[in-house]
This record gives sequence, C-alpha cells and structure tokens, in this order.
Amino acid sequence: SFNFKNITEIIYERLDRRIINLLRLIGVYGNEMKMPVYVVGGFVRDLLLNIPNYDIDIVVEGNGIEFAKYAAKQLNAIVVPYEKFYTATLVFKDGFKIDVATARTEYYEKPGDLPQVDVSTIKKDLYRRDFTINAMAIKLNPNEFGVLYDFFNCQKDLEEGIIRILHNLSFIEDPTRMIRAVRFETRYNFKIEEHTLEILKRNLEANYLERVSGARIRQEIEKILEEKQPLVAVRRLAELGILKHIFPKTYYTPTMDEKLERIFRFLPLIKQRYQNISDFYAISTVLLEFYDKETLEFMRNRYGYPKKFIESLKFTENMMLPLKSMVESKLAFSDIYKVLGKGNPYIFIHLSAYLDDDGQQYLIRYIDAILSTKLEKVTGKYVMEKFNLKSGPLINEILEKLYAMKLDNPSLDEVSTVEKIFEETQNKIKQAEVSENTNR
Ligand code: ATP
Repeated sequence: SFNFKNITEIIYERLDRRIINLLRLIGVYGNEMKMPVYVVGGFVRDLLLNIPNYDIDIVVEGNGIEFAKYAAKQLNAIVVPYEKFYTATLVFKDGFKIDVATARTEYYEKPGDLPQVDVSTIKKDLYRRDFTINAMAIKLNPNEFGVLYDFFNCQKDLEEGIIRILHNLSFIEDPTRMIRAVRFETRYNFKIEEHTLEILKRNLEANYLERVSGARIRQEIEKILEEKQPLVAVRRLAELGILKHIFPKTYYTPTMDEKLERIFRFLPLIKQRYQNISDFYAISTVLLEFYDKETLEFMRNRYGYPKKFIESLKFTENMMLPLKSMVESKLAFSDIYKVLGKGNPYIFIHLSAYLDDDGQQYLIRYIDAILSTKLEKVTGKYVMEKFNLKSGPLINEILEKLYAMKLDNPSLDEVSTVEKIFEETQNKIKQAEVSENTNR
C-alpha cells in the first residue's frame, strides 16, 4: 500500500541542471555495477518541500564502497572510504561532496540466508532513520529514474507538517533524535506527532539522553543553534524538558530567556571578530550561572568545556554587575581595561547577556580597540634599558598603563608617553617613602 509515484517532473522543475545530470549518471553507474541506487533522506525531504539542499546522500543496495570507487573513476572524483561503516564520500575537484552508503540488510549479516528482494533492503534502511519526513528515497537507475519510494506514508506527514518516529524504540536506539525532532520542528514550523511526543517524554524521563556521550549531545545542540531561530528551539527544548536533561540545574525562566535573546543578538558580531566560537559554549555562559562547583565539574567532564571557558565563568561570577554598569555608562576604555583586561570571547558573550543594544555596541567598540591596539615601539626591553630597570612587576605595570592609554587614543606617542608614566611612578614611590617616614 505504499507510494511508487514518479516525481521526475518535480526533479526537473526544482533542481539545477548540474545536479540532475549527476543523479542521472549515478543511476547509470548503478546499472553498470548491477546495483539499485537511491538518493535519500534530507535531500528528498527538501526537494518535496521545494527548499534548496545540496547534501546528496546516496544509498546503494550492494557494496557502497565499491560503487563509490567506480563512480569516482567515471566522474573524476576522489573517494574517501570508511570501511568500518560501509560508506564513502566522493569529493569533486571543486570541493563538492556526495555521501554514499550501503543499504544494510540481513543479507550481509547472515550470508547463508536467501537474499532479500531489492525493495526490502532500501525499505529496511529507511526504517532505521529518525523520522518519516527523512525516510524517503528516489530511485536513480535509468529504468526507474525519479520514482519516489515512500513506504511509511512519509509524504503525507511532510504535507501535514508532522514529525513522527518510525517505530517505538526509535529514541532508545538513538536518544539524540529527541533534539533532532525539535530541530526539524523549529526549522519547518512542524509539530511532533502526539504518539511520538508521548514516547519522547517517556524515554526522556527514563534518562536515555544521559546515556549518550556529551560530545554527541553537544553536536546536536550546536546544530540546533545554527538554525534560523535558535531561541525558539531552546524554548521548545525547555518546554519539553529536554534542556533539564542536558543542563540539570538550570531553571528556564523569563530572565534566562531574555539573557539568551541578548546573546543571540550579540553572537553574529562576536563571530565576525573571533574564530571557532561554539554556540553551545556561548549559551552555556548563562545556562551554567549559579552552578555549584561539583555540578560544574560534572558538566566540564561531560561536555568538554575548555579551560578558557571555565576561567571566564569564574571571572564573570563576581564582576558582572560592575562590568555591566561600566559599559552602560560608557566609561573610557582605559578604565574598563583595568577591570576587564583583554578578556576573552566567552567573557564578552556572557557580558552581552546583560547589555541592551546600546551597551552591546559599546562593548563591540571596546573589543575592536583591544583587537587593533598593540604597542609598537615600547617593549619590556625598551623600558628596562631606557629607565635602567631590572625585570620585575614595575615593567609590566608601566606597559599596561601605556597600553590602556593607547586604547583611548590610538595615535598617542608611545615614547613620550612612557616617559611621563615613568616619572609618575617615580613620584608615587617617593611620596610613599615620605608618608612612610612621617608615619613613624
Ligand atoms: P540537514 O538538512 O540539517 O542536513 P538532514 O536530514 O540532511 O538535515 P543529516 O544529519 O545530514 O540531516 O542526516 C541525513 C539523513 O540521515 C537524515 O535525513 C536521516 O534520514 C538520516 N539520519 C541522520 N541522523 C540520524 C539519526 N540520528 N537517526 C536516524 N537517522 C538519521
């Protein structure tokens, strides 16, 4: 009772000529290797939704790696095989990639048994997938090119905007699907189907998410935060109770929501200035506020928070309110520098959660000053030689003072300014000696 609809027309209407040719060729190679081949998953879903998607996932009934090697030769591409998973990636000269996987069947696991019919192998592969909307395939072999394989009424769910698991053990098999469900819900404005939701909640409460490695959880959360509406996704994670199983001591309150909203506004600005900013760590700055030492240590072990991040949490713990008011009242950079120093991106992100747009703009100006200001002429060596000083904290003090002043005035003359700074420190030392003498 499944759908064997031919959707060639849709393919020609919606896909680039280049992609169509590639799919056609892959089908031809399938015939030449005597293997049924399909394009599957997200590509098919987005084709039917008429949303561009260039992530081509191919599934082969047969040896996927052999197929990939053959296709690569014909297409002048490179093969990167992953023998363990029976998968391979084709990499083209221009960097374009295609993933090839082997439809896994009992045929491979029990070679003595009768071979399964072709249809049941792709069917089993699709049955193992996360949700019905992702469980469709399009046949590519020439005699059947463009036939949509829809065994589970997937197209209906897609049309109705429903996220539905394929079987009741789905979330137990892979608990990260709970997070994926929310991702697709948010992205397409779909709804998790009632029965699926019930099972999700049951498996969530049975702590299945806790069995997954922190790295995988983090990966899925990073993905959800890359979506267009990250805050909507986080709210939904909180609403479903998923967030509590990732951040066990966090209460999702309106205040928390506001902080995250400000962070999401600030993030693009900070990402223009620093590389490799993790969205997961970014939201963690506020989600981990007020965590006790032990839980924090647990979180660190589980999710691999880097040292820099942990340090930023410790720093902001006591400094947040003074920093907020300093930035809001637009104190001179040199004064902010005395408290904040060069900071680090996660300190800035955390601080941004407490700032309105105006404050965030000023913070960005401060960051730009930090990133662009360097002492060019005056170094530690220069100071030591010029003033005949031995190495010690005084050198650093002088350099820091000079640097702070340059933050306020990028065109200041380092050489004459450092002389003034030195004189001041000498005067201070003398005064201290005098007052010490009079105190006696
Ligand atoms: P996106 O558009 O975000 O790339 P996608 O659906 O293509 O979404 P991928 O993570 O690239 O997501 O996965 C490709 C396909 O592999 C999915 O469409 C789905 O069929 C299957 N899949 C991916 N992750 C899982 C999972 N955890 N469990 C089951 N099937 C999965």
